[in-house]
Formats: sequence, structure tokens, C-alpha cells
Amino acid sequence: MSKLPNIINLVKKDVRELKPYQVENIPCRVKLDAMENPYHLPESLMMKILEGVKRVEINRYPDSIASRLKGIISSDVNVPIDNIIIGNGSDELIQLILNTFGENGDRVLFPTPTFSMYGIISKSLSLKTEVIPLDENWELPLDKFLHKIEKNKPKVIFISFPNNPTGNSFDRESIIKILQKAPCIVVIDEAYYDFSRKTFLPYLKEYKNLIILRTLSKIGMAGLRVGYLMADNEICRELNKVRLPYNSNAVSQEIASIILENRVEIQKQIEAIISERERLIDGLKGIKGIKPFPSETNFILFKTVKDGKEVFSRLANSGILVRNFGSDSYLKDCLRVTVGTHEENNEFLDVIQKSVV
Ligand code: PMP
Repeated sequence: MSKLPNIINLVKKDVRELKPYQVENIPCRVKLDAMENPYHLPESLMMKILEGVKRVEINRYPDSIASRLKGIISSDVNVPIDNIIIGNGSDELIQLILNTFGENGDRVLFPTPTFSMYGIISKSLSLKTEVIPLDENWELPLDKFLHKIEKNKPKVIFISFPNNPTGNSFDRESIIKILQKAPCIVVIDEAYYDFSRKTFLPYLKEYKNLIILRTLSKIGMAGLRVGYLMADNEICRELNKVRLPYNSNAVSQEIASIILENRVEIQKQIEAIISERERLIDGLKGIKGIKPFPSETNFILFKTVKDGKEVFSRLANSGILVRNFGSDSYLKDCLRVTVGTHEENNEFLDVIQKSVV
């Protein structure tokens, strides 16, 4: 009689202990939980996309180096094509970086709270995570961070700039000090660059250990899964050895290229999101029992005097989905709302006002 293996015993210990990334599957009318762009594309651009998709030869493998898409990004950001790598979302690029630089037991350093995938991917690759809590203003405590670099000698550092979920951009001088002192890979994740317009791109030539990450997800293409990184030639050469040859699919490359060639449409939406963000912050400031934190992104983190879980449920019962951070000790009673359309934001403000009393 054959003995069936116990699958759990076959799973890597580090994976067995892993908590998966939390994606809420709660049905809702107003979806404000995932930093998506709430606007649709104009009909004329949709027609161009349909024409483009018709041309894609899906019986063929995609262009392995995504030349056209990289060419468009290259002229947008003024970085040579060879210094750019496209990923299946920037999530995949985080994994690629850790796969390339992290050996079993190496340390990965980042502040907390921050984007949870830095920790989840590190652990899945049997890397040790080291965290430094942000201070009460969600700022990076530089001395502690530098001390940790010296003591624990991380292989990779992640800095989300601006930071998810707090919404602020850390002090630029502090990050420059980290770049000067860190003898390891420093990833500056500029996922929200389009809303902050702050970048470390000018430092790419000076710091050979710097990788800048960007994504198209927040500006209207979350469903396409397109992210990109920019780094020195040597880093790109090593990353490309590990990158799966067809990691970016042909349909996404085609659609992202068309949308970026018509960037003016997206730009209008970004401007609208930024101005709605300011209106939303002002609205939240005016509600007793809520403290919104400043934001340079397309979302706002806020703290409730009332139990955060209860406020989350009341919003959800009215069909409005935001992100709840109930299980994170640094984010007690904090909720994160993504900037929606004018109408969605009005509805959110209306319901939250009633939910916190
Ligand atoms: N970095 C940060 C800081 C993020 O907030 C996110 C999305 N939540 C990502 C990376 C991943 O983006 P994507 O994989 O959609 O490109």
C-alpha cells in the first residue's frame, strides 16, 4: 500500500509560516481599497486599444525584451533602454531583485509599516527580514536605520517613496545618507511617483547600487500588470539572467504602449485624482473623530477614535470598501481610502461622517 505524503510537511518551512497578502473579496459598490485609478479611458482611446489588440499575434511568444514599451518609457523618463526592465507588475520585480541578490539567510531591511510584499517575498525566499518602526510622524528614524545597516549588514533595502500605507514621502536627505552609507542594494519604490512627482532618478548615475521601481498600476493599468525598474547596466545584466524570458505578455505590452503614447489622457486623470485627494483630506479633517495623515499618493491613511474595525464594517455595509489594517499593531484603528471619483468621494465622506459617531 502506497503511503500518501502529507503535503504540509513537504512545503518549505518559511512558506508554511507565511501569511498571504490580504486581498479583500467583499462585494461592493464603491471600491476604494486598492489604489486603483477610478476613471475609465475615453472611447477614442479604447478604439485604438481594440485595434492594437487585434494586431497582437497571440500564437507567438511576446517580445522577450519588450522593446517598444521600453522605448516609450525610456523617452518618458530619459533613461537608456538597457537600464530598464519590465515586470509583470512591480511585485514581480521585487521578487526578481530578491531572487537575484538574496541568498538563503541574507537580511532584507525596510521600515514598518510599509508595503507588505517586501516582507512576504523575502520570507518566501528564506531571507530574514529586519524592520525599523517609523516615528510618530511616519518619518524614517535615520540614526536607527543607519545603525541597523551597520549591525545587520542587509543585502537589500526597500524604501517606498512615498510610503504605502502612510502616504508620506520620507525626508530626502535621510535617504541620500542611506544611499551613501549602505554597502548593499537600495530599492527606492516610486509606485506613487505620478502623484508625488518626487524622484531619485537623478541619483541613478551616482549610486551604482540604486534601483528605482515604478508601476503603471496606480495610473489606470492595474489589470495589465506592468511595472518597471531602472538601474545601472551591471544590475540589469544580472537581473536579466534571472528574469523569466516571457515575463511580460504581448497583450499588456501592446495596451500599455498605446496608453503611454496617449499619455495626455492619463495625465488629465492624474490631475483630477490629485485635486480630489486634497478635497478628500479637507473633508476628513472636518469630521470629528477622524485624523487623516498627509498624502502625496492616490490614497489617504486615517485614524479613527472609534474602533477601526467597526468603522470599516459600517462602510462595507453601505457598499463602500476601504482597506482595514486591524491586525497591524502600528496601524491600530487606521483605515486607508483610495481617492475615487468626485461622486464616490462624496458618498464616502457622507457615510464615514455617520459611521464615526
Ligand atoms: N510598491 C508599492 C509601494 C505598492 O503600494 C504596490 C501596490 N500596492 C506595488 C509596489 C505593486 O504594484 P504592482 O505590482 O501592481 O505594479
